[in-house]
Amino acid sequence: MTAPIVVCKNIKKTYGKVIALDTLNLEIEEGQFVVLLGPSGSGKTTLLSILGGFTIPSEGTLFIGGRDVTSLRPAHRPTVTVFQNYALFPHMRVSENIGFGLSMRKVPRKVREEAVEKVLETVGLIGLGGRGVHELSGGQRQRVALARAIVVEPSLLLLDEPLGALDLKVRQQMQDELVLLQRRIQTTFVHVTHDQEEAMNIADVVVVINKGKIEDIGPPERVYLRPSSRFSASFMGESNIVPCKSVAVEGGRTKVSSVFGETVVHGKLEVGQNAHISIRPEQLKVESSVGLTQHLVDVQIDASIFQGAYRRCLAVEKASGSEISFRVTPEHLVSEGESLSLHANPDDFVLLTH
Ligand code: ADP
Ligand code: MG
Repeated sequence: MTAPIVVCKNIKKTYGKVIALDTLNLEIEEGQFVVLLGPSGSGKTTLLSILGGFTIPSEGTLFIGGRDVTSLRPAHRPTVTVFQNYALFPHMRVSENIGFGLSMRKVPRKVREEAVEKVLETVGLIGLGGRGVHELSGGQRQRVALARAIVVEPSLLLLDEPLGALDLKVRQQMQDELVLLQRRIQTTFVHVTHDQEEAMNIADVVVVINKGKIEDIGPPERVYLRPSSRFSASFMGESNIVPCKSVAVEGGRTKVSSVFGETVVHGKLEVGQNAHISIRPEQLKVESSVGLTQHLVDVQIDASIFQGAYRRCLAVEKASGSEISFRVTPEHLVSEGESLSLHANPDDFVLLTH
């Protein structure tokens, strides 16, 4: 395995009393599409800006490509940043915008023009080099910003909520295009978003950030199916997270008691210890016949909402008043006030100790 392209060692950033990043450690492997995911104010932009050299950390060290670049200026790093507002030059044509970084680097005109043509093709803007920026749609401007970034062939492309200003349809299309682009050029991407669906659509690795700390890091599937904290479980998609108490410990498993009755889950607790368990709405089933499921709980329907691909049901467990969310197929009609039994595979529960 090659050395990671980015290593953050105990990086801290404070603004007066505000701790924007709290002793953060992170390694990024070369060639990956990494997504920094977290709510507004969690420190995503601060981290990206430290990687790009626009912010100097208060403490800690940053290595890019094995070199300590902690206080190196942006222009001296192998990085390029695409900002949310694109920051295109409004008075320049598309091709001039894209070629700007190359002219700054004194690349001869002919070489520059060839590189610009090639990159116009890469981002799907063939023939639009002569247009003014104001003659482009939002999605096209986004592509120009991307073209301008990749034409200088950075080792690390940094993107701060680059799709935030686009409407849903174009955003989804651009997500697909970004993934294809990244696969083609194989540059390491670090992309910031607060949108968990976007993160799942594009990431090889998701870094879940909350209050300046990394809550979870891993492939989207793992973070979604086996989140490592309550925050991660609740931020990455919808989840039922309920308190539980350990009643017995057997090997690497614990029998816990919760609103879902007694279930044996992966993970270790002391007997009597309190924690939480989580399960995704789609992992709760109305029929007991499916494979390894166990009867968990009886609930009463509060509301059912048609969502196209499924029907989202909100229900309550009467004895405790706990609210439980689950899904049924769109054909399955459920009415308000109806009582149902919910089942699940106990292996789908995740034990959360923090
Ligand atoms: P995000 O991008 O996740 O929304 P930021 O990295 O922008 O979060 O901000 C993290 C925290 O640091 C916030 O509390 C924010 O108010 C604070 N912060 C960021 N930049 C500055 C700054 N230049 N001066 C003071 N506080 C800042
Ligand atoms: Mg931000």
